[in-house]
Amino acid sequence: MPELSKRTATFTDSVIRRMTRISLQYGAVNLSQGFPDFEPPREILDRLAEVTREDFHQYSITWGAQNFREALAEKQSRLMGRTIDPNSEIVVTCGSTEAMMAAMMTVVNPGDKVIVFSPFYENYGADAILSGAEPIYVPLNPPEFDFDRDTLEKAFMQHPKALILCNPSNPCGKVFAYEELKFIAELAEKYDVFVITDEVYEHIVYEPNKHVYFSSLQNMLERTISCSSLSKTYSITGWRLGYIIAPPHIIDAAKKVHDFLTVGAAAPLQESAVVGLKFGDEYYRELQEKYTAKRDLFLKGLDDLKIAHTTPQGAYYILLDISEFGFESDLEFCEVLARDVGVGAVPGSSFFREPVNDLIRLHFAKKDETLNNALNRLADLRKKIIPRK
Ligand code: GLN
Repeated sequence: MPELSKRTATFTDSVIRRMTRISLQYGAVNLSQGFPDFEPPREILDRLAEVTREDFHQYSITWGAQNFREALAEKQSRLMGRTIDPNSEIVVTCGSTEAMMAAMMTVVNPGDKVIVFSPFYENYGADAILSGAEPIYVPLNPPEFDFDRDTLEKAFMQHPKALILCNPSNPCGKVFAYEELKFIAELAEKYDVFVITDEVYEHIVYEPNKHVYFSSLQNMLERTISCSSLSKTYSITGWRLGYIIAPPHIIDAAKKVHDFLTVGAAAPLQESAVVGLKFGDEYYRELQEKYTAKRDLFLKGLDDLKIAHTTPQGAYYILLDISEFGFESDLEFCEVLARDVGVGAVPGSSFFREPVNDLIRLHFAKKDETLNNALNRLADLRKKIIPRK
């Protein structure tokens, strides 16, 4: 038999998605893969019901249905502080997963270096391998998850092609401060580097933190490839609706990559989501309040159980300290946690370049009753998991 490609041997399947399967297997409350168990907005679902009987069953324009791009351009122009052209500055993709991969394939040649902050969302590792890029990892140092400016500049001195910026960050919950972004922007300009952003948690930010779109920083528009999606904002992770926003010369190339990767995002779902894109500011305020309440509920529950954890400034993930259990493998800990305690989590090692085995990631994008159920189960954590040391 001929051999399979070498590239497939260099990364594993997604541990995040694997933990969802393990959670299902053990009937665990699944706080591993980050997706909500509450309903998307009613208006979007009502529109979906209508759309099934309308004429949206064939391909949309490959880079996105016209009315979807127009509604998206209007919303993001408001937020990003500039006028975005729906025809030349947007590609609609199958989730931000495709957006990030297409962005990488658009700017990176095999052998090019790409700066990635660690911890990082696990897809970026595979994105780098599949596009032939070589990551340069720059640590975000706990507990604040700040970065050392000299270390970052040294990474830039290696002449990378791009920097990947996940802001607000998955898994550490960091919201990059304006001053930090400005420093990154100065380096990007000085060393002539693209910045590919993953801003899927743009609307999930906790006071007093504020999300700053990287493309809105001085001189950054021309070198920023902004990726995001509707998944988290409208609680429709299964719809796979994402997008890239960038200047026309970048979008022209990204359109070609996207066209041959997937042809297009699902037409009926784009049509149904347009009503969501037209929501007023109130919707985003309420979303933020809802997630703030969930964060507070979950953090208080963990505090009551005396489980040490990070406090996110944005996104909906928490890293828990499991060092007291003395497991050598955090993956094994997560399997035992799902099986014996009934809570699904992701091993921290899936996100860090540095060797770690004492952190696990939980998320709180769940109904309050689900979170309370998980907390009740976690109350037995120390009874059900015997320390290994
Ligand atoms: N972003 C989510 C997470 O980190 C899930 C993403 C996915 O599985 N596509 O859990």
